[in-house]
Amino acid sequence: MTPPHSPAWQRALFEAPLLDVHEHHIPSVFLSDQVNLLTLFQQSYAGWTVERPYPLPSENREEPPMESALTPVDWSALTPYLEERRSNHFVRNLVSGILHVHGDPDWTDIDRDNWEALNDRILQSRKQPGFQTNTLKQAGVERVITDDYTNPLLVAKDALGESYQSVMRINAFACGWHPEARDHNGNSAAKLLKQAGMEPDTFEEYIEALTVLARQMESRGQVAFKNALAYDRTIAFEAPDAQLAKQAWGKTNPKEAERLAFGDYIVDHICKLAAEMNIPVQTHLGTGIIRDSHPMNIAGLIERHPRTRFLLMHLAYPWSRDLLGLAFVYRNIWIDLTWSWLLSPTHFKSAFHEAIEILSDEGRMMLGGDNWHVEETCGTLRTFRRLMIETFEEKISSGYFTEKEALRLGNRILHSNARQFFKLK
Ligand SMILES: [Zn+2]
Repeated sequence: MTPPHSPAWQRALFEAPLLDVHEHHIPSVFLSDQVNLLTLFQQSYAGWTVERPYPLPSENREEPPMESALTPVDWSALTPYLEERRSNHFVRNLVSGILHVHGDPDWTDIDRDNWEALNDRILQSRKQPGFQTNTLKQAGVERVITDDYTNPLLVAKDALGESYQSVMRINAFACGWHPEARDHNGNSAAKLLKQAGMEPDTFEEYIEALTVLARQMESRGQVAFKNALAYDRTIAFEAPDAQLAKQAWGKTNPKEAERLAFGDYIVDHICKLAAEMNIPVQTHLGTGIIRDSHPMNIAGLIERHPRTRFLLMHLAYPWSRDLLGLAFVYRNIWIDLTWSWLLSPTHFKSAFHEAIEILSDEGRMMLGGDNWHVEETCGTLRTFRRLMIETFEEKISSGYFTEKEALRLGNRILHSNARQFFKLK
């Protein structure tokens, strides 16, 4: 896996176990047998270069592009990615992941000569039982925390295997003022609560039902709440106003202020529960509804809940320095590096240098792949190891770190921080 002549500390970090704190391994997609070479591009961040899967407030979209059916593949279907979008890092990362998992050692690219062989190998791989699990094992991934946004109550161990746990996405609940109300993923709070045997009639009963649902998380193997509301609304979560929040209850189309107050109230309630239960709140920051997703918007929520552990994601791209400033001030912040290097390796390395320097202790950073298929996960995690090692090399050559210090921090970021943070055995 590593270049044969690299120093021992680098080889150790290339091969160290990895605890992956964020994936979108959705059983029906991740384990599907309807996957070919083109599907891997469509159901990946490379697909986002063609179409964002989340609509903006000005857009209306019928069908989420991620769930497209198997389309036959030929070279012309691949060229939009392999030629027109070849400079984009999502595309480059996925190509490297596909070649790593399915390619011959001397293949350096997907081209006219090898795409058919790769396509055959991908189709064959989906017929081998345990292909995904074995591939992750070979990549050193010992545990995965998945965010199945199609099923916020997923029991991941049953659906995906022993090495999986899940998070409980809270978006639907923060948008749950009416049985017909849905979050940007199409989830309805009423439907999810019904699935758990609860049918609240009043706002008070609804809050109580959410408390019950949260207390059942352990039985579902759910290790964190996930707040991805940056795709639904502003992340400026204001102090709860019960009266205004309650005015949204039961309305098909509440006023903007009532809607926001409803979400504010629910998010605040969940943050209180998270503190009581000592369960973290993993929160998407950075691009989303971009006019409202600047990390500074979330400072109020973090300040009001000093006992809640917030795992803030994606280095809040492109506002990483603002996020690091927040983490310097509020010590109930941890940093989930997920996605940041996938967006831009250049930005990542610069922000990672700063994060190493400014974070209060070595227990603050962890990472995940944030992908749908195992090939992209492998590419993403390999890219991370490489960029982390490059950054450490720069720190060592400037005299900031010794090799021993780089190795210690690297192991913490790859696995031990996450193990401690999520209290995993
Ligand atoms: Zn994600």
